Amino acid sequence: MSRFRLLRDPGREKVCGGEYDWVACESRDLPALVRVHSTPCTCEEATALLSELARQHLPTAEANAFRVQWGSKRGRGGYLALRKREVRFVCPVTGRAHYRMSKIGQVPYVSLPKIPMKQGGPWKDSLRVGLVLHEFAHVLTIDNDQWHGKVFTKSLDDLVAAWIARQTRSLASTDRGECTTGRDGS
Ligand SMILES: [Zn+2]
Repeated sequence: MSRFRLLRDPGREKVCGGEYDWVACESRDLPALVRVHSTPCTCEEATALLSELARQHLPTAEANAFRVQWGSKRGRGGYLALRKREVRFVCPVTGRAHYRMSKIGQVPYVSLPKIPMKQGGPWKDSLRVGLVLHEFAHVLTIDNDQWHGKVFTKSLDDLVAAWIARQTRSLASTDRGECTTGRDGS
């Protein structure tokens, strides 16, 4: 998949560090996109953010099945096919069973790098809010034929705007001395 991305996006990250040029140019709010890609987050914060997003945007069954995986350096998002082995036929001569893998369902997932970006970067292979939102936008737009097209960018922009609005609310309530959830950094 990473090779595919390179073919589709040869000029990655010149406009916004950590985001594809085409997406950054198409974004309706580039400063917001730059901000989320400059905001480091921990694995715990990413997990909390994703489970909240899954509850908000996915049907309940899919939100419950949603998986977060770690280890993908660039990040990935979409649906994992669940397969099970079943007997295709049993050879009448040898008695040996032959199998096939059949698809029994799919679950939404996001895979992310484990290491939080340092404040100020570099963003490469490291965890930041922008990457979490980018990969979740893939889950929401998986049926769209353009991998990083207009539909994807619109979805990402919406997620970015919602995240920033929540941060702003959270900071405002901190200023007023109200109790916060302790998840301000996510
Ligand atoms: Zn992508």
